[in-house]
Amino acid sequence: MMLKIPSAWVAEFQFERDNETVSGAEAARTKLQKQLKRSTQIGAAELAEKLGSCSPTSPCASSACGSCNRAFRLRFCQQVAEVLGESEIVQVSLIPRSSRVERGALREFDLATWAGSRQRSFARALPPEARFLGGIDISFNEFENANPHWCFHLLGYMIMPKGAGMKLRRRRDRIRASIAKHCPPLPSEVDGMRQRPLLLRYLTFGEATAKASYLHKPIFPRRSSYMDTRRDTGNTFRNSADEPLRVRDHIELSLLLDRHPLGSRLILKGFRRHGGFGAFVLNPTS
Ligand SMILES: [Zn+2]
Repeated sequence: MMLKIPSAWVAEFQFERDNETVSGAEAARTKLQKQLKRSTQIGAAELAEKLGSCSPTSPCASSACGSCNRAFRLRFCQQVAEVLGESEIVQVSLIPRSSRVERGALREFDLATWAGSRQRSFARALPPEARFLGGIDISFNEFENANPHWCFHLLGYMIMPKGAGMKLRRRRDRIRASIAKHCPPLPSEVDGMRQRPLLLRYLTFGEATAKASYLHKPIFPRRSSYMDTRRDTGNTFRNSADEPLRVRDHIELSLLLDRHPLGSRLILKGFRRHGGFGAFVLNPTS
């Protein structure tokens, strides 16, 4: 099937990482294609072939493709900047209790169903006048080189009308409590260590547009956590570093992404997406 050439494909947009340039995205696609060719995982050879056929005149539209992801993200960032307009913006990050999937189990994981369920939970949790634009981020987590698992979490913007008072902490706390009720986060304390699985933060328009590309990330890290010691006090604390995914894990994730069309990781309230992956618009639903 021939798709319309995404206008954003060649657009000059200052993404913050080198591999988000046109050539960087192509290099990521080629690297993954080579890894897939050497893999024995089911579906790897077919995905390698699909990525190998991708070009600006005939994009493959796979969620696993660096180039097609880049086109989607460019369009998404442009649309986010357009729809934010005169509003109050609160950044919401949430690691839900259902965020964990075991390594090797992505083949049975239905990302679209999981995303749909989170989207309905957010629709119930947020005030009727709130709109929401967000995405699902994915990381591979391990602690002290053990307990490896996939983590699916959400990062998004709640968009409220001007004058909604979102700068006030107590107003945000009320919404935070509603999200926690409808979409329960991980416990805030695990193994005696504190963590913050649900955070709400007021953003200016400039901050929100500058960080819009984080709502649909193209790179998925291996988040390696470990116990560290503070030099000054000697207290221990949980620290973490982001490393690249191991090849077998990257392939497992790429096969999951490829089974879901571009845009499947978006969480929307009050918007509907119309149009192809590189030229869509986000229209208000009411
Ligand atoms: Zn592609």
